Amino acid sequence: MKTYNIASLAGDGIGPEVMREAIKVLRATEKRFGFKLVITDAPVGWAGIDFAKKALPDITLDICKRSDAILFGSVGLPDRDATIPKEERPERAALLRLRKEFGLFANLRPVKLPKLLAHACPLARERQGDGIDILVVRELTGGMYFGQPKQTEDLGGGIQRAIDTMVYTTPEIERIAHVAFRAAQLRRKKLTSIDKANVLENGILWRETVARIGKEYPDIALDHMFVDNAAMQLVLKPTQFDVLLCENMFGDILSDEAAALGGSLGMLPSASLGSTSGAGTFGFYEPAGGTAPDIAGKDLANPIAQILSAALMLRHSFGLNDAAAAIESAVEHAIEAGNRTGDIFSPAEPNARRVGTRVMGEAIAAVV
Ligand code: NAD
Repeated sequence: MKTYNIASLAGDGIGPEVMREAIKVLRATEKRFGFKLVITDAPVGWAGIDFAKKALPDITLDICKRSDAILFGSVGLPDRDATIPKEERPERAALLRLRKEFGLFANLRPVKLPKLLAHACPLARERQGDGIDILVVRELTGGMYFGQPKQTEDLGGGIQRAIDTMVYTTPEIERIAHVAFRAAQLRRKKLTSIDKANVLENGILWRETVARIGKEYPDIALDHMFVDNAAMQLVLKPTQFDVLLCENMFGDILSDEAAALGGSLGMLPSASLGSTSGAGTFGFYEPAGGTAPDIAGKDLANPIAQILSAALMLRHSFGLNDAAAAIESAVEHAIEAGNRTGDIFSPAEPNARRVGTRVMGEAIAAVV
């Protein structure tokens, strides 16, 4: 029987509650589809600091290295111990460290607004068509956030000058373009590449490179859009988009804008992928939201983002498309059956009932 090794890093706040439900759902797919998941829990974030005085304990990193994928909850509790410096706090010492360690260069953020949750979307219903369904593919390790030089200089006379450098090489653009084209092949086969080719050298190279790679994918309809127009089109007519391909900073901004259309952070999964090695792609899968300290430990969190992150893991790291699709369809069923955590509940919906984290997770696992 095919076996996959998963490092389960639940982290802080709502992390452990939503992870517990995601694992329940994974166990249900295991039974139905006949594969074996070896899931190893490891502490991270404040849980790591409590365990080994480190946000990413050595044992946790070791477990991650021996796994085929990481299923991550979230880390960070803003009110904890202000004396711990920011480099040692979980957001940097665990999250950024893991991204770097595993060379995670591709971030995938699907945003899906089911028609039944139209009330949770800030856009007028007539702009939502039959439901919004977009995948933002963001380059994660290049561009302005990492380019050198990156510094603030003193020019004298009380004047300072800050420099950030936007840099991309063709191989960096090529590898993220391949990720986006392959993702589009699993969806509606449309790819919109975002750039600022009218003013940035990077934009010209981005557009030329994506267009060249696009010739290898004749089944995908490719178009190009300037980032400022894309920001506008996302709120005017989001249904025109299938896959959006963005460099790092544009993707950072547009993926949050797209996320707002999804109704709740509690519904949004994400995948960060490294290079393909052997049969699978190493990946890091986590909800788009954080630790939600305001609702942690109260059975109020929506586990769907974590559960859909687990589905992305099955699809992108293990190639288990049927099992991933079964989870996604079980989420839709649970919503159609009226289950709503507080973040997606509206008293105006006649058949909806408010449920907790546990009941939502169980409803989804039962359908799988
Ligand atoms: P947050 O995403 O934790 O919460 C923002 C709002 O969204 C809150 O009202 C919260 O209740 C709600 N929310 C988030 N997830 C939800 C869910 N699953 N179900 C229902 N409601 C949900 O953002 P924040 O409050 O700005 O950050 C809290 C902590 O999380 C900070 O320490 C921050 O650094 C950290 N954080 C971590 C990650 C990560 O681990 N990847 C990401 C974002 C924030």
